[in-house]
Amino acid sequence: MRSKIVAGNWKMNKNSEGTEALLVELSAKLPDTEAKVMVSPTFVNLGSAVRQLQGSKIEVIAQNMHFAESGAFTGEISADMLLNIGINTVILGHSERRAYFGETDEILKKKVKAALAKNMTVMFCFGEELEDRKSGNHFNVVESQLKNALFELDQSVWSSIILAYEPVWAIGTGETASPEQAQEMHAFIRKTIAAAFNQDIADNVSILYGGSVKPGNAEEIFSKPDVDGGLIGGAALVADDFIAIINGI
Ligand code: PEP
Repeated sequence: MRSKIVAGNWKMNKNSEGTEALLVELSAKLPDTEAKVMVSPTFVNLGSAVRQLQGSKIEVIAQNMHFAESGAFTGEISADMLLNIGINTVILGHSERRAYFGETDEILKKKVKAALAKNMTVMFCFGEELEDRKSGNHFNVVESQLKNALFELDQSVWSSIILAYEPVWAIGTGETASPEQAQEMHAFIRKTIAAAFNQDIADNVSILYGGSVKPGNAEEIFSKPDVDGGLIGGAALVADDFIAIINGI
């Protein structure tokens, strides 16, 4: 049975005081919801966020990790380091990692495998650029992103995968995919997973939409049958907005 999930990607925002304050506010205002709620502060604030949220229903997740176990990778963080401070879920493949840090499908495949090998949950992000959509190539791009990073995985790991479809043209731009565009792509993703693995895996994987989700559009997007929640950037930094989005589930 797939889960409803609302996750906040805080990106490179909030210092330690800001992180603590936002978590205090979110904890106080968190509604009773069927959705799993996740937040991802920056690496330096992950440990304190986990401690602060002990016993809370809000899960702290990481924005990235390296594929190696340990070693000479200056500036990088391993799966074991995340697990060691109580982080069990990692976002991989965010479009900003792909665009600004050269993360290719090949690198992401290694990262996904490394996280799953440590029994972490992977929130795998993917999505087409504006030119792909304009040229009608968006389905092909999404299919190849999924294929290149995920199709060699064993069927058994799919309960530890969350998919986040994030059209690049909608991230941080204020331009949102229409609920119909989101549903059309999510249905395509589910069909693609069913063809590559099986219908059961496709039916049970949570597929989140990301890209300028706001309090005003969340409910309509989340109402679509193949949309299981959202990965939220900008609006996750404002407690009342994030709570309103959670209430849209
Ligand atoms: C994101 O970065 O994952 C994202 C969806 O950002 P925003 O909500 O700001 O578009």
